Amino acid sequence: MIIPKQKKLDDQQLKSLKKVLADFNCDIQAVGGTTRTIYAILGDERQELMLNRIEGLDFIARIDTIQSPYKLMDRKSELAMHKIKAGSINFGDDLIFIAGQCTIDIDNPQYFIETAHAVKEAGAHAIRGGVWKPRTSPYSYQGESKSIDILLRAREETGLPVNTEVMEYRHVEIAVKNKIDSLQIGTRNALNYSLLTKIGKLTADTQTLILLKRSMHMGSIAEFLCAAEYIVSNGNPNVLLCPRGTLPAIEGYRNYPDECITPLLKQKTWAPIVVDPSHSVGKAIYTPHAALAAVAYGADGIVIETHVKPLNGIGDDPKQAITPDVLTKLIPDAKALFTRRKAYESYLADSNPS
Ligand code: PEP
Ligand code: MN
Repeated sequence: MIIPKQKKLDDQQLKSLKKVLADFNCDIQAVGGTTRTIYAILGDERQELMLNRIEGLDFIARIDTIQSPYKLMDRKSELAMHKIKAGSINFGDDLIFIAGQCTIDIDNPQYFIETAHAVKEAGAHAIRGGVWKPRTSPYSYQGESKSIDILLRAREETGLPVNTEVMEYRHVEIAVKNKIDSLQIGTRNALNYSLLTKIGKLTADTQTLILLKRSMHMGSIAEFLCAAEYIVSNGNPNVLLCPRGTLPAIEGYRNYPDECITPLLKQKTWAPIVVDPSHSVGKAIYTPHAALAAVAYGADGIVIETHVKPLNGIGDDPKQAITPDVLTKLIPDAKALFTRRKAYESYLADSNPS
């Protein structure tokens, strides 16, 4: 990873750098962080002569060679300085809530609009709503592109950023064209490396957030971080990591809750962790508990299915969505816990430097 002296290289400097790299069959990918743009080396970066020649360029501060399969996502990466925002708030400064329906019902758009206003009123920072839906059964409602207009209307009326899942390249193109603020990669596509690559490329150099769910079959933490590395190494460092439960499920829950991996993730990466309690436990009566547990474990944000009339909803909403009343109670309680956890983290950091 090449770190320039200034915030960003100019065209002439970029040309000189690329010339050196080309001599060694390498290229670079710019990744625009908040403090500076860094340049990931594409190709064999262990070539000593190449590294020496790059370090000899007077506009280069240094080269970090991090021995990790996820060198950009690694906590030691220069991107650890990168700040990611939900609207005007930085992740880490406040507990971020992304709330809204599982699925936008094209036949009943009023529910989505009412839900959007209600979650804003409850204190949510962003709205979620599925335009396209990955459904286990091919006979279930699969979503419709036209629902994006309902999502955009909710954004316009509330002024809050919006999140929706994309499952294929065409969805990414439509979402990017409409400047959707946050694109979700669901659990089923979390290991779809060509989609991860494309989403990184199409959103490179934008503020677009990518909410990457953990695959329900995902084994190791490294696999999760490598999936995120595909997005970042293609130009978009605004990645949020989302544990959402894995299989096999605990009997009675939808999945096996995995918010407990948050401290492990935080030790290995700088990316914000946004936990999804809704898909993890799968029932509205359990989700507030799972949300609070996630905050205790270190979550920076919560993405939670919410509906003004869950029983009139479609997709997961009748089972999983909490009501705005519950959200109104949950947000301040979760924020109070977030504040206490932060104080506790500072205490631990001071008392136990290792
Ligand atoms: C969803 O967020 O509605 C969803 C389908 O999520 P997941 O990919 O985690 O199942
Ligand atoms: Mn859902």
